Amino acid sequence: MSPKIKAVCLACIEPTVQRAVRRYLEGIGLLEDYYTTHRVPGGSFNIVSTLRDIGAVVSHFGATRVFLFDHEDCFIYRSLGNDSEAAHIKSLKKAGRLIQTTYPGVTEVRIFFMRKIPAGGGWKVEEVTE
Ligand SMILES: [Zn+2]
Repeated sequence: MSPKIKAVCLACIEPTVQRAVRRYLEGIGLLEDYYTTHRVPGGSFNIVSTLRDIGAVVSHFGATRVFLFDHEDCFIYRSLGNDSEAAHIKSLKKAGRLIQTTYPGVTEVRIFFMRKIPAGGGWKVEEVTE
């Protein structure tokens, strides 16, 4: 029997962020068996391209929590000419509102911005709360 999926995680496809996202979720007590991971270029910026997949997880597995991760120095945001923290946070909030209005079964949406730690030190994950 498969475990009950509790959450949905959305992040950018860039390989360097995957481990940090997984570790962060582990750190708050969410193990890999209990969430699905959706990776799209730019994370929250492209949430529309995976919205139906997220909806399937919500309706079929009963997931009620959604975690959205963006990271600085993202190739999608750079290609658009604005990789600022403000641009990411605006996009994360917009994606969060889209999830909540599209899937009322989702009771918790949390958004996160990942900062690069210099000299190959990985990522610092910070929750955006305001
Ligand atoms: Zn990216």
